[in-house]
Amino acid sequence: MPRYCPTCGNSSDRMQFFGNFCEECTRKKFAESLISSIEVYRCKSCGRIKAGGGFAQPGSDSLAAAVKKQLGGYAIKIIGIGEDECSAKVLVSQDTAHGTISSEKEIVISYKKVLCERCYRKACNYHEAVVQLRGDMQRAQKMLARITKYFEDRNGFITKVEENDNGMDVYLSSKKLASAFMSRMDLKPVMSYTLVGVRKGKKVYKNTYALRFG
Ligand SMILES: [Zn+2]
Ligand SMILES: [Zn+2]
Repeated sequence: MPRYCPTCGNSSDRMQFFGNFCEECTRKKFAESLISSIEVYRCKSCGRIKAGGGFAQPGSDSLAAAVKKQLGGYAIKIIGIGEDECSAKVLVSQDTAHGTISSEKEIVISYKKVLCERCYRKACNYHEAVVQLRGDMQRAQKMLARITKYFEDRNGFITKVEENDNGMDVYLSSKKLASAFMSRMDLKPVMSYTLVGVRKGKKVYKNTYALRFG
């Protein structure tokens, strides 16, 4: 005995059924239950967008993460991204008791301008450490390039670089990263600490790493 879909009358002889409804109607209902527009945070300073958790470089991977998160965590696959990254066509899948149902959905993406934490801190001149580069300035420049790459690869940043008569002072976002960099490069800087304040009852120090190149 064939069954008939109560919505459209399709028979189970001609089409797969998901419970009481035909595949077509199930897919349509699923697509209608999904939101059709999302808002994505975009940093007005560095252009990164808020993907799954933190900010990431724009692109199909980070857009997919943002869409996935806001669509309620369904498995999704990006089919295409519209011009100006203002829309995305995605294939959304859901596991049901009767099998997996997949539906294509067009998602409109709007952007909200914000300042990501990294850029906010940068704008506020935030720094935890200073590396003083002294002596041979050619070697100092090379070291600066290495520090910059190391920090940017790890979501840190260079707050500012100050040149003075003695050499260069490089202000850094994280003393943890600064220390890790020194050990990684097997450098033996002369360390000093400056008390900069008290946070949650604990004394906060700024680390200074002095490096001299012969
Ligand atoms: Zn139907
Ligand atoms: Zn930013």
